[in-house]
Amino acid sequence: MTRFHLPESQLPTAWYNLLAHLDEPLDPPLHPATREPVGPDDLAPLFPMALIQQEMSPEPWIDIPGEVLDILKLWRPTPLVRAERLEAALGTPARIYFKDESVSPAGSHKPNTAVPQAFYNQQEGITRLATETGAGQWGSSLSFASAQFGLECKVYMVRASYEQKPYRKIMMQLWGADVVPSPVDDESSPGSLGAAISDAVRDTVGRADTHYALGSVLNHVCLHQTIIGLEAKDQLAAAGEANPDVIVASCGGGSNFAGIAFPFVKDDGVRLVAVEPASCPTLTEGRFEYDFGDVAGMTPLMAMYTLGHDFMPPSIHAGGLRYHGDSPIVSKLVRDGRAEAVAYPQGKVFEAAVQFANAEGKIPAPETAHAIRGAIDEALAAKETGEEKVILFNYSGHGHLDLAAYDDFMNGRLVDA
Ligand SMILES: *Cc1c(COP(=O)(O)O)cnc(C)c1O
Repeated sequence: MTRFHLPESQLPTAWYNLLAHLDEPLDPPLHPATREPVGPDDLAPLFPMALIQQEMSPEPWIDIPGEVLDILKLWRPTPLVRAERLEAALGTPARIYFKDESVSPAGSHKPNTAVPQAFYNQQEGITRLATETGAGQWGSSLSFASAQFGLECKVYMVRASYEQKPYRKIMMQLWGADVVPSPVDDESSPGSLGAAISDAVRDTVGRADTHYALGSVLNHVCLHQTIIGLEAKDQLAAAGEANPDVIVASCGGGSNFAGIAFPFVKDDGVRLVAVEPASCPTLTEGRFEYDFGDVAGMTPLMAMYTLGHDFMPPSIHAGGLRYHGDSPIVSKLVRDGRAEAVAYPQGKVFEAAVQFANAEGKIPAPETAHAIRGAIDEALAAKETGEEKVILFNYSGHGHLDLAAYDDFMNGRLVDA
């Protein structure tokens, strides 16, 4: 067997809250003006109270509301797949499994949190959400989720993507969202994720009917993604495996890595590897310190690895990995040595993506290809040592709307600085 499906009846009904299992508390987020720890009231203009509570919750498990489960069931549980043909192509004794998050409506893991975020906002009487998006993965996920709950959705899309990548913009519009290029006040700027966050936060604080939604980084976002790793645990057992020896995931703001890795943090002997682009090396070369989440310095300061909130990452194809900071929990795991981080240049990443596509058939998102590069290198290391190790990676999204990037790669137009 190569594909391991869970029945709908085994969809997890609670998220795993790693925050409650940490040996010491996280450094608290600080108010951008006073630099005092922020309280729930400081965050209330941006988020519904249910999400603010999750952001700080001491509960080890948090129930997933039935209304959320009903929508997640449109595509969950997602398959766990053994990449046997990739193993054969590599000649490795390792067994490689991937969790296929590309089967969601928007084509990535991001709807796992978009749906509960839209739900809790609707429950609190909010009628409109504002957010930012880079290449469009998050914007399309939140547009889909907003449509499910009858919410308006305003998306500030990084201008370079808005102009060069029309298809995700069309998906957002199809799901009823209003999409505008960011920065709104400078038509000559190609924009950045940090600047688009500033636009979305500015929109939110100016309107009582509107809240803000973030697609990664925050604790509640990481929490919602743990459904991935919880399913994977059951599916690995069904495949006759104990825990994996190593888990690999690409890392932009950290929620994708969190999703597959957090449920395994307390398990001994499971290495956790976060893979990031060499051009935006937050975990491998950033500093661990308090920094803003956005360019304008409007968000709370978080203790995390950061390249500086004004860092302008070069335009690479893995738009979803171009963020200057990282989840505070993921940052702590790396700083404490519980998780490892590696960085790869684009060329090596696309090489792995093409090898995977030819062995397994599926064409990964460039972000996902970072994890594939990491998993392949783990499998090649196992070949050197002759170890039968078990590798699990997160197949975070498909690349069907990223074919221009593959065209660049195949025609030698993809240059690494
Ligand atoms: C956004 C995205 C990522 C990165 O997720 P983070 O939570 O920001 O680390 C990885 N893969 C795909 C396909 C994405 O869309």
